[in-house]
Amino acid sequence: MSHHVPAGLPEKIRHYIDGKYVDSIDGATFEVLDPVSNETYVLAAAGKAKDIDAAVASARTAFTEGPWPRMKNRERAKILNAIADQVASRDQELAELETFDTGLPITQALGQAQRAAENFRFFADLIVAQRDDTYQVPGTQLNYVHRKPVGVAGLITPWNTPFMLESWKLAPALASGCTVVLKPAEFTPLSASLWPGIFEAAGLPKGVFNLVNGLGEEAGDALVKHPQVPLISFTGETTTGQIIFGNSAKNLKGLSMELGGKSPAIVFADANLDAAIDSTLFGVFSLNGERCTAGSRILVERSIYDEFVERYAERASQIVVGDPHDKATEVGALVHPEHYAKVMSYVELGKTEGRLVAGGGRPEHLPVGNYVAPTVFADVPKTARIFQEEIFGPVVCITPFDSEEEALDLANSVKYGLAAYLWTNDLERAHNFAHSIEAGMVWLNSHNVRDLRTPFGGVKASGLGQEGGYRSLDFYSEQQAVHISLGPVHTARFGAAGTK
Ligand code: NAD
Repeated sequence: MSHHVPAGLPEKIRHYIDGKYVDSIDGATFEVLDPVSNETYVLAAAGKAKDIDAAVASARTAFTEGPWPRMKNRERAKILNAIADQVASRDQELAELETFDTGLPITQALGQAQRAAENFRFFADLIVAQRDDTYQVPGTQLNYVHRKPVGVAGLITPWNTPFMLESWKLAPALASGCTVVLKPAEFTPLSASLWPGIFEAAGLPKGVFNLVNGLGEEAGDALVKHPQVPLISFTGETTTGQIIFGNSAKNLKGLSMELGGKSPAIVFADANLDAAIDSTLFGVFSLNGERCTAGSRILVERSIYDEFVERYAERASQIVVGDPHDKATEVGALVHPEHYAKVMSYVELGKTEGRLVAGGGRPEHLPVGNYVAPTVFADVPKTARIFQEEIFGPVVCITPFDSEEEALDLANSVKYGLAAYLWTNDLERAHNFAHSIEAGMVWLNSHNVRDLRTPFGGVKASGLGQEGGYRSLDFYSEQQAVHISLGPVHTARFGAAGTK
């Protein structure tokens, strides 16, 4: 099979601290593989505590002395729009690098690059429209909210859609006037190496953005524990989130946690079945199934169950798996051999826990690379590990239900609560069921289509806090209350009784 290697790959991936590309202080590096050949294509600088110290010092100086936190919102918005223009003008290059590094199909990587640009435009608009509250007590007091950026924000991101998820944190952090240290995922550092050039071209002042590559347990850990980083925005696995929670306690950091998921798609018999099948296929097999909001448990009403399973399995087995750079590819290669081994172990487990109706292993025509055939298990009980645990690959469980109560019980019987997708044409049921689902986000008769103003986040083990719209800006801002008296204030005169 041909192996597409993009032109202009860097010779080495370095950190970017205080406006300069630098190696790790101790010179350490780690190997980065591409998921089609599984060969090392580049070395990346492996940051440790001292590199994080340097990056935080740069961000701290830019925060306390530099122009960025003091600029008018309109001025910051102009730079954010210039960043969006830069990203949009380089979308093809970005998509190509992202596809090479992650194994995501090129058409989907291009969509993610365009969304990254949109994230900057959205937060540029939002800060210009920003307003804060004033409270009057007539004749007595005027109180207002003075909003200011918190300080140096630590941003820690996963590998599934690296550049887009970095933009989802960078845009609101920068819009709010924070300075940042970004620690991208070690499996996929390539696209993040474009940020410095994009920011320089857009005119972001030096030191506002700092990038440290490295392992989570080293660079990520040092960022989480750094006393001069008051905020951590983290997206990744629930277990990593729990470690970060613990490590942030000593410094009482602000935390935003976007964690794992095992989201249900519930299909009632009255739903538009054609649309539900299209949508639930896309909902779990897009982005190679490496998608936090994947609808990876499909619950189907018994009366349409057999038809649904048959049609779904037939379509899943026809999904085009192949070279991520080929525009016809629908499912590419999983990010890394370690992750591939994890997903394959669930595929094997699934054969003992459910009825395999599509996929079930490596596609025959792809002997090399991290390829998994879209895999569908039917009749999966709720006690099964493949029903309960996040697989984060192209693997889905289908389970029948007989009543609304049973569907709700199945939907809510996992530790996660990120997204849910509900398919029904009964208006009353749609709303009542949506309100009862333990999920941060519910889509009715749709897969995940985002409106950036709405809250994004999970409940239970899927996260803490919500991003999206003003909620993101609130996370990166202090809202200081300033109280002004409009006349003499009644004051009890302590200690005045004995004086004349
Ligand atoms: P991960 O938790 O392994 O790694 C995420 C990041 O954390 C990486 O940059 C890693 O280096 C860093 N890290 C690891 N250990 C650390 C530590 N001890 N201290 C500080 N940083 C540390 O996650 P992943 O495998 O890269 O990503 C997949 C996971 O992300 C899935 O569970 C998925 O559901 C989740 N995810 C969630 C959302 C969401 O919005 N809820 C979005 C995308 C992905």
